[in-house]
Amino acid sequence: MHAPRNDVTYLDNNATTRIAPEVFEAMVPFLTEYYGNPSSAYSFGKRVEGHLKEAREKVAALVGATPKEIIFTSCGTESDNAAIWSALQTTGKKHIVTTQVEHSAVINQTDWLEKNGYGVTRLGVAADGTLSLADVEKAIRDDTAIVSIMWANNETGVTFPVEEIASLCKEKGVLFHTDAVQTPGKIDLRHVAKSDIDFLSMSGHKLHAPKGVGVLYVKKRTKILPYVIGGGQERGKRGGTENVASIVGLGRASEMALEHLAEEQVRVKTMRDRFENALLARLPHLYVNGNREQRLPNTSNIAFDFVEAEAVLMRLDAVGICASSGSACTTGSLDPSHVLSAMSLTPARARSCVRFSFSRYNSDADIDRALEVIPPMIEELRAMSPLGPEHPDNFDYDVVAAREKEEKMMAATLSSLND
Ligand code: PLP
Repeated sequence: MHAPRNDVTYLDNNATTRIAPEVFEAMVPFLTEYYGNPSSAYSFGKRVEGHLKEAREKVAALVGATPKEIIFTSCGTESDNAAIWSALQTTGKKHIVTTQVEHSAVINQTDWLEKNGYGVTRLGVAADGTLSLADVEKAIRDDTAIVSIMWANNETGVTFPVEEIASLCKEKGVLFHTDAVQTPGKIDLRHVAKSDIDFLSMSGHKLHAPKGVGVLYVKKRTKILPYVIGGGQERGKRGGTENVASIVGLGRASEMALEHLAEEQVRVKTMRDRFENALLARLPHLYVNGNREQRLPNTSNIAFDFVEAEAVLMRLDAVGICASSGSACTTGSLDPSHVLSAMSLTPARARSCVRFSFSRYNSDADIDRALEVIPPMIEELRAMSPLGPEHPDNFDYDVVAAREKEEKMMAATLSSLND
């Protein structure tokens, strides 16, 4: 296996992760020697089927489930879409409850559904990114087919009380899906099968397995209609020849996620906290977005007031440090992040936010490097910026917010005059 690049300091593990060497090693035989189709009747195919079975058991163990409750898909997006689609089909109901801060996999699917005759309630969040259980309860209606709420937010790391929400849904006779793509290896999921969660999505590339393989956990006795219709693979619940090598890799990655769980929750969190606290101590006008207690151990989303995140990211890129603003799927868009906007950040502050996300492959040396580079970079950008704190108009950050509000009102007045 090629060694990972050492000219890159990779601090964007919520976008994707490095394939673990052990995962790669487990996959190779299925890309070279054992290329048989697991559905074939001869022993060359059957042998592959045996490895598929083993991988399914390992993935099931990650969520404390039985292998029959695991469906392999192509990605987290497909798993999300499949759960919501199936609930609408099996219940015949036409209303969905979700949040304003979901990943685009759920946001864009529910937008599409809304344009095509379904009802969607999108719950807001508090300024610290947390969600109120009472709001979920109020939003459930007689015609609600499914509540789909993520376990952990990909931008801020803030977690939601999904097991409590699942119990509430069960009481009300409504299906519950959680997008748990950001959680394996960071949160202990082994009690999932004992909870009232009906559907749970995961994605290989977020836990050191390859891209192009996902998981949909479907609780025993919860009905599921296939979203990808084809052959009888996955016990008729998802057509398409299995991505064997990646599934085997995901099995190994799931095993490792459990082995490293305690480390990720302690060592990675300690690194993240050191990074955050050092930046806060070194630079003024910095804010950590999201509830600092109710958060994944690896994620840090920071507002660097008076600078544009895009400028920070370009400069970080130039020195080989990878981080992001928003999610990888929305990077390039000039609109401020929908997650940070839902948390009531002003557009100016939302545009100044950078997400750093760590993994077990990060070292203290990575943190030292980032801490050496970022503070002088921010100081330089602030000195150049017309929004900089030294600018007399912007001495108080609220002035910027007030000015943006005025500009918006002015634009609205102008456009109504032009109508
Ligand atoms: N849900 C969340 C919370 C994510 O972070 C992502 C990926 O960024 C997805 C879903 C989509 O997963 P995939 O890239 O496997 O389609």
